[in-house]
Amino acid sequence: MLLETNGTVYSLHFSHEKNGQGQWETRCVLHEGKCRVKDCAHNPDGAFRGFGLARCNPVDQFNKARGGTVSLTRALNTFTPVANHRELRKQIWSAYFKISPYA
Ligand SMILES: [Zn+2]
Repeated sequence: MLLETNGTVYSLHFSHEKNGQGQWETRCVLHEGKCRVKDCAHNPDGAFRGFGLARCNPVDQFNKARGGTVSLTRALNTFTPVANHRELRKQIWSAYFKISPYA
């Protein structure tokens, strides 16, 4: 999905799949600009990007919304460290919740 904040476009990708141990994993890739590749969640486009992985505890019920939130939080931690990017993170979250298919 595409997020727009203050005239800048970000691409956000999620994939939800079971790993070799049967645990659900949500991967999140976030990068600036529109995407030029097909499977960006696994082969990310762009040089500078954030990546986040959320693994569902086997005792918990898998939930895409929760996987999305946790993995995006982790992707943002690498893409926009809290100390320098408070405002940008706020904008990305609000853009995400506006169009998230899981919310
Ligand atoms: Zn992409």
